[in-house]
Amino acid sequence: MTDPEVVIVGAGPAGLVLAWMLQRAEVPYVLVDRQSREQVGTLPKAGMIEYRTVQLLRDQGFPLTFDAENRRLEFRTPTTSYVFDYADLTGDRPHYVFPQHRFVADLVGALEAEGAPLLFEHPVTHVDPDGPAITAGGTTFTPRAIVGADGAGSVVARALGDRVEVQDRPLASRWLVVSARTAPLVGHTIYAVHPRGYAAHLRRGPEETRFYLEVPADVSGADLDPDELRRDLAERLGAPGALDGVEISVDDLDLRTRMTAPMQAGAVFLVGDAAHLITPAGGKGMNLAVADAVELAHGLVAAHHGDRGRLDAYSDTRLPVIAATQGFSDWFLRVLSAFSSDALGGDSSAAFVDAVREGWVRRLRDDPLLARWFAHAYAGVDASP
Ligand SMILES: Cc1cc2nc3c(=O)[nH]c(=O)nc-3n(C[C@H](O)[C@H](O)[C@H](O)COP(=O)(O)OP(=O)(O)OC[C@H]3O[C@@H](n4cnc5c(N)ncnc54)[C@H](O)[C@@H]3O)c2cc1C
Repeated sequence: MTDPEVVIVGAGPAGLVLAWMLQRAEVPYVLVDRQSREQVGTLPKAGMIEYRTVQLLRDQGFPLTFDAENRRLEFRTPTTSYVFDYADLTGDRPHYVFPQHRFVADLVGALEAEGAPLLFEHPVTHVDPDGPAITAGGTTFTPRAIVGADGAGSVVARALGDRVEVQDRPLASRWLVVSARTAPLVGHTIYAVHPRGYAAHLRRGPEETRFYLEVPADVSGADLDPDELRRDLAERLGAPGALDGVEISVDDLDLRTRMTAPMQAGAVFLVGDAAHLITPAGGKGMNLAVADAVELAHGLVAAHHGDRGRLDAYSDTRLPVIAATQGFSDWFLRVLSAFSSDALGGDSSAAFVDAVREGWVRRLRDDPLLARWFAHAYAGVDASP
């Protein structure tokens, strides 16, 4: 095989969006993924896509169709409840209900229809950032650029060693990811700020709903009685009995944050979860991954035509946006989480933490300036992409 100009590692949202743009710009590349075509994107992950991400993708000619918009969220605590119309406050910028596995499947389908070079079942076994060279599925490539879009356990990022600085922070909070075969309880997102821990209700489809249940970091979903879990979840959400008998599957999700700086070294570039991890509070990870990919693609296409300026500035362009988004997610996690003060190394009493959480919820309801800021940050209208 002739050496491609770019090797992309990972067929997640970041790698596939990058491939889509290089394909359209006729920049020679290959994309490798360790999983089979059927396996990629099957884990339950993101389910909502931001308005600005949709605009970015449509600008690149990617055909997107959605079943539903999500325009509102509701805060529920044991003493108060109110619905917050963030799309209204942001000049009509909703989220779109679009599960990540469908997004990945649509991207793979669209690329295959164009005869794109996607190599599944090609795990990367060696990366030489200086060569540069990369071995995947037994084949060694010597491209001009290697892109690590290989997610949280990125082998490409690890190969960079001390060329980059990594800030990695495990949090003391664990979320149980509960995928339920049931219609949504209401037509919007619910965030329950409960003393036993945070719980959430997120739309995924007509007969499919995602729930989160916060538990101490040493509790696993596998150890809990499913009936007890359903009961606790429904109670925290203020909807006792609503989940009785509903079919569920449960995964543990340990929260952590990570930032890598810079996001490039020589011929190697990192995008998406390979570069940064953000907690699911506020639903930002996939949206950041897509925005990284779009920016890097613009840089790679310009470099292909002899202008390296945008490519050289890639990390400097993306890091401030990522840091601001981490800041929002970190704050929102403290509003939602019963265990966030542990995560931050604090020793506040549970009663103090609960009072502060409820205080934020009331303030979001009563303070129009705070509400406006929150709506913009939540909908992703606060920063340039
Ligand atoms: C429970 C949960 C809920 C989430 N909810 C949201 C949300 O609501 N909104 C949001 O925006 N984000 C959300 N996220 C985050 C979002 O899912 C991630 O940010 C997103 O998947 C990142 O995309 P990516 O392309 O960078 O990496 P990934 O999707 O992880 O893709 C990486 C790819 O690289 C491949 N790979 C890995 N190692 C190798 C190797 N050695 N060789 C070859 N291939 C390899 C993998 O097979 C995979 O296909 C959520 C995440 C979780 C876990």
